[in-house]
Amino acid sequence: MVGTESDVLRLRRELSRTQEQLRNLIERNGDAILVVDEAGLVRFANPAAEQLFQRPGSQIVGSELGLPVLIGETTELDIVGQPGDRVAEMRVVETEWEGAPARLAVLRDITVRKRLEKERAHLLQEQLARAQAEAAVKERDEFMALASHELKTPIATLSATAQLLQRQLSRQGALEPDQLNRALVRLNEQSHRMARLVDHLLDVSSINSGKLILHLEKIDLRKLAEQVVASCQLTTSRHAITLRCPELLEAVVDPIRIEQVLVNLLENAIKYSPDGGPIDVELSTPRPNEIQIAVRDHGLGIPMDRRDRLFERFYRVHTDGQIAGLGLGLFITQHIVELHHGHISVDAPTDGGSLFVVTLPAHHLH
Ligand code: ADP
Repeated sequence: MVGTESDVLRLRRELSRTQEQLRNLIERNGDAILVVDEAGLVRFANPAAEQLFQRPGSQIVGSELGLPVLIGETTELDIVGQPGDRVAEMRVVETEWEGAPARLAVLRDITVRKRLEKERAHLLQEQLARAQAEAAVKERDEFMALASHELKTPIATLSATAQLLQRQLSRQGALEPDQLNRALVRLNEQSHRMARLVDHLLDVSSINSGKLILHLEKIDLRKLAEQVVASCQLTTSRHAITLRCPELLEAVVDPIRIEQVLVNLLENAIKYSPDGGPIDVELSTPRPNEIQIAVRDHGLGIPMDRRDRLFERFYRVHTDGQIAGLGLGLFITQHIVELHHGHISVDAPTDGGSLFVVTLPAHHLH
């Protein structure tokens, strides 16, 4: 049905009102809106686009946008210009412009948001750095207190033993061989303990400064293990240390450092088995060119959830004050093993105790 003239006029008025509303929406929109044709030329730009690009619409329309206009994804763009660079987020959809396919790009100015995000990240980083520095100072202070305390104990025993000897000597005029022997054993033990503590401190400082280096030699590991086991056995009557090892087990290692590894593991096995029990040391070659050193005790064991941190500096599991330590032995041990291109792991056997396993290449590779 053909409409009357007044119908046509009414439709025209409606159309022009709708167009007016649309223009209003586009012109007042805070986001920059651009239409780019298939040749890459800008066909339309709203006032927000003029502001974003710092150019009048007459310069933008008809020129190339100079930015990739990709459909679909949201892209972040740096818009270089005066008085300063701006950052915009652009979304592009397909559209039509004057009957031909085109692209409609909506760009949101996110310069302020980005600046705030950057400032927040910077602030967080500063806070983190400050917290790390404070934690490091606290850790150092705690360590100094612990180290001084650990050193004081043997020093106190040394001086008490010396004073006792002096008193006995002045009272008796001479010392019984038995008295003298007991005192000498104690002096020896305590000076050894002090020397070990100082060695640990020196080792940690060499590790921290990257100065702990290996002096490799081809040696028979069996001989070395026999000596360590024998000397550790002398320090305890509550533990029975056994060694299983092939007749000959040659390896290229730093003998002093590997001895230190074995001593550390055995001393821990003794220390953390306060009720005594067997300690088994086993050296084997599970694969050609691979040597395994396993130390197994039947002591306090290590809870599953603490095992990951065991090799960290200063980390201690048994801290109820009964068993002395600085939490450095395993850290040093792991470092020495890794310098040999090996690795160390710990396991909790089902029937209790701990099992430390060191794996080393028999021929150290540089
Ligand atoms: P330290 O013995 O001086 O504390 P280590 O670095 O040698 O330091 O050991 C770290 C911690 O690991 C110890 O404090 C202890 O809690 C735990 N640990 C080490 N060896 C054993 C072991 N054989 N059995 C049980 N716990 C152990």
